[in-house]
Amino acid sequence: AKSQQRAGHFYFSRSMGVEIRERVRMMHALRSGFQRGELFLAYQPQVDLATNAAFGAEALLRWRTEDGRLIGPDRFIPIAEYSGLIVDIGEWVLRQALAELVRLHAAGHCTFTMSVNVSQVQFRHPHFVDMLRRALDDTRAPPEYVELEITESMAMEEPALLVEKLAQVKRTGVSIAIDDFGTGFSSLSHLQRLQVDRLKIDRTFVTEITGSARGSSIAEMVIQLGRNLGLSVIAEGVEDERQAHILRSLGCPLAQGFLFSRPLTPEALVEWLGNQGL
Ligand code: C2E
Ligand code: CA
Ligand code: CA
Ligand code: CA
Repeated sequence: AKSQQRAGHFYFSRSMGVEIRERVRMMHALRSGFQRGELFLAYQPQVDLATNAAFGAEALLRWRTEDGRLIGPDRFIPIAEYSGLIVDIGEWVLRQALAELVRLHAAGHCTFTMSVNVSQVQFRHPHFVDMLRRALDDTRAPPEYVELEITESMAMEEPALLVEKLAQVKRTGVSIAIDDFGTGFSSLSHLQRLQVDRLKIDRTFVTEITGSARGSSIAEMVIQLGRNLGLSVIAEGVEDERQAHILRSLGCPLAQGFLFSRPLTPEALVEWLGNQGL
């Protein structure tokens, strides 16, 4: 038994070593890839469910490596957070998305909104609000058309600090959405203290909506909660007409997902908006 234990231990630490080495390798690749301009944003339209008309888009980060592979954010954002690189990458994402928003407004889409994901590591950084203010100033982006998405897990932590920081963010004029809502456990009283504007129903609950009768209960609860608290609600990951239909019947006002459009390049977004007659 003892030798087995030791063998088990050896195997464990070796695979851990491999994992850490892989992470360090990826971290270096990401740092140099970022410097070489390998990161770019894709924009996924967000629509009004009543009319299917687009009102805005979410900026989603992509990494095209030197050898042409496309790596999704779920794989490299944890590494960017772990290494602290997310602070610089996140600022770049914000500036890039704000510049795109300014271009869209100039092209005549003058009420279009831009949602930008903010990592907790980035948000907790002491200079986050200064960075946001400078990015808004430098790009001349209109803050009332900018939304920051923070995850529900983050909304749960250190209530007092979060309330104050969100208040500072709100003073810049941007709005706040709670991303992946329903996956965490934020209490209602807590939610009321946060100056958020929108709840984003996580895709898992949208997927469940067409299953059993109980499948739609969380989506329904979030929609109701939004209505009671006077918050906007958007469903993410809407893939088919049945889901859209149920969401409409539950009174969900806004949606985003492959049914309407995949994330697009800036050029494709403008073309897509043109085809919508916008
Ligand atoms: P998220 O914020 O929940 O973004 C939604 C994800 O769902 C995106 O994946 C999007 O491409 C995907 N999606 C949209 N519609 C559908 C659909 O109908 N069906 C399915 N199956 N998927 C759909 P993506 O782009 O791979 O991003 C994954 C996550 O990475 C994001 O989840 C977000 O947490 C994070 N992320 C992306 N961009 C950024 C960024 O600039 N900064 C930070 N901090 N995180 C980011
Ligand atoms: Ca998001
Ligand atoms: Ca989300
Ligand atoms: Ca999600």
